[in-house]
Amino acid sequence: MRIAQLAPPWIAVPPPGYGGTEWVVQQLCDGLPPRGHEVVLYAAGDSHTAAELRAYFPRAMPELMQRTSIDVCHVRFALDDILADGGFDLVHDHSGFLVPAFHRCLDLPPVLHTIHCSFNAETTPFYVRFGGEVPYNAISEYQRAQGPPGMDWAGVVYNAIAVEEWPFVAEKDDYLLAFGRVCEAKGFHLAIEAARRTGRRLIMAGVVQEQSADYFHERVEPHVDGEQIVFEGEVSLARKRELFAHAHAYVFPIAWPEPFGLVMIEALATGTPVVALRQGSVPEVVTDGRTGFVRDDLNGLVAAIGRVGEIDPRVCRAEVERRFSVERMVGDYEAIYRRLVARR
Ligand code: UDP
Repeated sequence: MRIAQLAPPWIAVPPPGYGGTEWVVQQLCDGLPPRGHEVVLYAAGDSHTAAELRAYFPRAMPELMQRTSIDVCHVRFALDDILADGGFDLVHDHSGFLVPAFHRCLDLPPVLHTIHCSFNAETTPFYVRFGGEVPYNAISEYQRAQGPPGMDWAGVVYNAIAVEEWPFVAEKDDYLLAFGRVCEAKGFHLAIEAARRTGRRLIMAGVVQEQSADYFHERVEPHVDGEQIVFEGEVSLARKRELFAHAHAYVFPIAWPEPFGLVMIEALATGTPVVALRQGSVPEVVTDGRTGFVRDDLNGLVAAIGRVGEIDPRVCRAEVERRFSVERMVGDYEAIYRRLVARR
């Protein structure tokens, strides 16, 4: 098949720092050609990919994240190009709302749209209106169950990780790790409380986006003492992998309907157990008692941190190799592509 992958425009593929969708797109672009497919990637011009890259913007613009004018230029460029090219069998869209909303106005090849966000007050009305107009892929069973009635679901394909790029460490240090977008939904303030109550060191790292600056200054920063509670801010990919690999546990006390949560499989790939609150996809990704602990409240989470020694790091890694490998994800998408192309 000849496949167009349409990434969001704001972050390069692969992402130099924050970015979940862009890792998934990168894995597809690298994983499909060895299976005999030709891939063209529409993404920011400073992306690096095994696919052919076509870009409207020469560089990613994370500082303009979610600004519609950027999205419109990027998607319009991609759609014009796809139509002019005329040779694609399928378009796999990861880029937000424009393609599902307007593809019926155009004579495009079959489209698959992966929903990378959660269903909420802002997004659900969109899917009420456009949920039946394009086949959608969900990234967890939980996410799919949250969708409004009438959605055209093509399948559920879990995200993946290039396991071999993540170091496996069996002998862990003593610190807890909280890593990701620093915001209330990801529960950094609860991770701090869990560290206090267990007397453990907590290392936190991740980007503080504009909309979460107040949260960071009010609920996180005042607790950072550089000793028991450490905040490293945005870190390099190498440091990120090191932090995950050596942590006693990855704490994920989230307060939102996580649609997948790549950070959980990043921890597990390094053999680090995940101790999380039961929200969204968490119980699908973490096998309670086997690769970590899934609890209903902070008391339960704190108690579970004391049981992390029961989890075998090798089992965590093996579970990622089995359930969240790039090969598995690419194969699952390939099967959906074939079905969509055949149903045209
Ligand atoms: N990430 C990162 N640096 C940061 C924050 C996040 O590299 O400062 C990465 C994180 O390791 C993961 C992705 O960005 O690979 C975030 O995806 P996830 O599904 O965990 O969460 P999202 O923020 O998309 O809800």
